[in-house]
Amino acid sequence: MKALMILAAAGILWTVSISQEAKKGQMKHGGVWAVHDVNEPQPPLVTPGAKPCQAPSDAIVIFDGKDTSQLSAEDGGSIKWIVNDEGALQCTRKAGVVRTKQEFGSIQLHIEWATPKKIEGAGQGRGNSGIFFQGIYELQVLCSHENLTYPDGMAGAIYGQKKPLVNASRPAGEWQTYDVIYHRPIFKGETNEVIRPATITVFYNGVLVQDNWPIKGTTHHKKTAEYRYHADKLPLKFQDHNNAVRYRNIWVREIDDIPATE
Ligand code: MG
Repeated sequence: MKALMILAAAGILWTVSISQEAKKGQMKHGGVWAVHDVNEPQPPLVTPGAKPCQAPSDAIVIFDGKDTSQLSAEDGGSIKWIVNDEGALQCTRKAGVVRTKQEFGSIQLHIEWATPKKIEGAGQGRGNSGIFFQGIYELQVLCSHENLTYPDGMAGAIYGQKKPLVNASRPAGEWQTYDVIYHRPIFKGETNEVIRPATITVFYNGVLVQDNWPIKGTTHHKKTAEYRYHADKLPLKFQDHNNAVRYRNIWVREIDDIPATE
């Protein structure tokens, strides 16, 4: 009985302590909120796009079909890609890389792309472009419908590092979507050593093709990737690979980094 009374008293004290802390709006128990604690702050309100794939209210719109003011050439000058009649940003011959003016770390990205309808070239020469996270890590863009190439270089691949889980490509010329969750790498100080590699999750046309995969380092051609220290935020870049690849409906949401655990 005495033990029960002590336990009951402890329970009351714990409850009082919890409610007092909750009134102050403070986290408790090692920074974790109690289960079903109504005092835990609500998440921010975000209005989703009216239709699937449309930018939600807190997105940063990179390209909406008309406005290219968020984009520049690699050197910061005007882009040489064109906005075509269908409201798509299209790579033109020797137009060079296009980059965002804003720099990003960890992001959610939605982007739609299409390779030329007229099938020309083969393998890496057919509808090649790419999306470079932080300007360094390439998610390959390629016509991969009935177009064989090395698996770690096909659409949905982290170029030179990781093939997609499946090939979810639509035929040449059709619009394809990428929905990506990218977390930037965390370096040890300003050294090349990563204490948390970048990770990437990619849905290709709604199909999971990269599942929280740890990127191995800077994208290279025919060379093993390794990390090189870089800034926390860098531009998103789009590759010119001499193919008239088109992009539309590009938006990002900045998301929290995942802290490294040493
Ligand atoms: Mg490429």
